[in-house]
Amino acid sequence: MKNMRTMKFTRTALKNLFSPPVTRPYPEQPREYPERTRGHVEIDIDTCILCGLCSRKCPTGAITVNRAEKTWKIERFGCIQCGCCVETCPKKCLTMKNTYTQPGAEKTSDSFLKTNMPAPAAKPVAGQTGAASAQKPAAGQTGAASVQASGKAEA
Ligand code: SF4
Ligand code: SF4
Repeated sequence: MKNMRTMKFTRTALKNLFSPPVTRPYPEQPREYPERTRGHVEIDIDTCILCGLCSRKCPTGAITVNRAEKTWKIERFGCIQCGCCVETCPKKCLTMKNTYTQPGAEKTSDSFLKTNMPAPAAKPVAGQTGAASAQKPAAGQTGAASVQASGKAEA
């Protein structure tokens, strides 16, 4: 019986000795996540219309949409990657990426500023009939630029 165990152990030891390691040398060789891994949410802020639907559907309240300040904010460590916001967005400007948020000692949030928001339509002047003419976006309000900023999340 003892010989049998020794034989089995020797066979396993020899097999492992001449096999490639089962672990990878991280971080030199980072792990590649499967395509559908729920890692983190990203936004195409230029397509977003700041409707706030994602914020209302988020079960953890990780998303804050401020139409007055034209910002869309997400608390990365408050997000549980459920994907609800991605499915809900009517403009399909949210996507779930397969890489995870970098770990950190402090809770952070990412804020995106929408710079191409069209100006609200002008109110019709008394006496004028027909459809109100839409105002052209003011200078500086066009373009595809978006600003990303990071900061501490509120407690
Ligand atoms: S649901 Fe989509 S379009 Fe609406 S605020 Fe969220 S990201 Fe923007
Ligand atoms: S993935 Fe889920 S938890 Fe994360 S922001 Fe979207 S709705 Fe909220």
